[in-house]
Amino acid sequence: MKLENLIAGRWEWGRGDGTPLVDPVTGAEVATAASDGADLAGGLAYARTTGGAALRALTYAQRANLLGAIADTLAKHRDAYFDISRRNSGSPKADAAIDIDGSIYTLKTYARLAKALGEARRLAEGTPHPLSKDGVFQARHYLLPRAGAAVFINAFNFPAWGLWEKAAPALLAGMPVFVKPATPTAWLAQRMVRDLVDAEVLPDGAISIVCGGARDLLDHVNETDVVSFTGSAQTAHMVRTHPAVVRNSVPVNIEADSVNAAILGLEAAPGTREFTLLVNEVVREMTQKAGQKCTAIRRVLVPAAAAKSVADAIAAELAQVKIGNPAHPDVTMGPLVNRAQRVAAYEGIAALMNECQRVAGDPTHLALIDADPAVGAFVPPTLLFCTHPSNARRVHEVEVFGPVATVIPYASTADAIALARRGHGSLVASVFSSDAAFLDRVVPAIADLHGRILIVDSAVDGKHTGHGNVMPTCTHGGPGRAGGGEELGGLRALAFYHRRVALQGSAARHEALGRDAADAALLLG
Ligand code: NAP
Repeated sequence: MKLENLIAGRWEWGRGDGTPLVDPVTGAEVATAASDGADLAGGLAYARTTGGAALRALTYAQRANLLGAIADTLAKHRDAYFDISRRNSGSPKADAAIDIDGSIYTLKTYARLAKALGEARRLAEGTPHPLSKDGVFQARHYLLPRAGAAVFINAFNFPAWGLWEKAAPALLAGMPVFVKPATPTAWLAQRMVRDLVDAEVLPDGAISIVCGGARDLLDHVNETDVVSFTGSAQTAHMVRTHPAVVRNSVPVNIEADSVNAAILGLEAAPGTREFTLLVNEVVREMTQKAGQKCTAIRRVLVPAAAAKSVADAIAAELAQVKIGNPAHPDVTMGPLVNRAQRVAAYEGIAALMNECQRVAGDPTHLALIDADPAVGAFVPPTLLFCTHPSNARRVHEVEVFGPVATVIPYASTADAIALARRGHGSLVASVFSSDAAFLDRVVPAIADLHGRILIVDSAVDGKHTGHGNVMPTCTHGGPGRAGGGEELGGLRALAFYHRRVALQGSAARHEALGRDAADAALLLG
């Protein structure tokens, strides 16, 4: 199947043979993507003028209704999406649900949250404050939707959610979306866009998609656009420093790699509830989506006295994981997305093995259900142990994008803090402890280097939403090597798609601009 591109309101197939998309279980080609010949400059211009103008003519409430209609349309085609996810990403149903149902849930959440903004078209911050003695001359800040296109360059691991978690706030803000999904898994995003176009849910030009290489896309971004990138730190650097991005001061949001930590409290011995909850969460994070989640636990920081018990308990659980063809009902973990990612994962494991020992995950004894290891992109859940983490470097820096985690013993609370901080900025950390003194020290000491911290104590117990699960109402993103970006966080996400202007003028001018404005404080709600 050839994935057509939707550019300037028209479906077109790119020139040339294109790049094959494969089934990671069999290696068979399932679709082809090609962007050669696509008029990306013209497509961006069309999105800005036709799509942007139509969206900005609507109120926030009307755009919220659009999000609801998108969610309803996607929900109608769920079965087809699960099929694509299985065939192109190798996802068992539970993994596909995170991507597909996660998209629908995120869209519905934004549709619901946006109701608070009502029939407004812009946002006003605070009240006008006088700049002249008689109060005639006043100042107030307003947030206006940006007039360009929201350009998304996405990673392969969440072809659906990666699009909709960004598109929901962008469309709500009144910005048309121009998405370039990662080529290996572009099929699902392309099919979703096609279903929406067929159902005539969105105004013409409100969404465009180009499958295949990004080519000259970034050459054409201008001062009205924004770019939101998800992917590796290496590509992120290229995006951030692209000449057109720099020249036009285009706002860029980056979500990049992360070596996330789970931390077990110093007091949590084997047999405690926190010990069990941490073990369960590490196993889930290693095996869900075969560890191909930017938020997955990579480092498991545990008190030295409990380290061997933790490693043994995780390894015992991993031994129960059923790996293989996701079409088989018994399979709980599928392959990586393709053989290239498998090679990259084994290279990463080899790099970590310079500093670690293997506890679980022998690639030479990989028992697969209904799949051939010689052609599939399978990697066994691999648990490593780092005996001397303070002297180690790679274990804190190398993100293996697969079912791989390392148990890291720590000696003291200060040591746990120091080791966690060696991730150089992460999307998320989780702390499993019911010792208030431990939590009071650790959480503030690592908070500046993390986008999100999950604290599991006896009050929360098993009722948490998960280390790796990104909730639409909570900010997603992290400082430092995680990219320095911010997404979601409820209506906070709208800020990226608006531009703040300080208006200095008469009360009448404020009345004119503020007429269609909602209170910007609602973004923090
Ligand atoms: P990647 O290789 O960096 O690719 C990401 C995207 O950038 C793809 O759409 C890719 O297109 C595109 N791209 C590559 N070169 C480009 C260029 N010169 N100009 C414009 N776009 C270009 O990353 P990936 O392998 O897809 O994803 C895995 C990485 O993403 C992991 O490191 C993971 O940690 C990270 N990730 C982070 C998050 C987060 O939220 N922080 C979420 C998911 C993944 P092609 O596919 O066509 O090459």
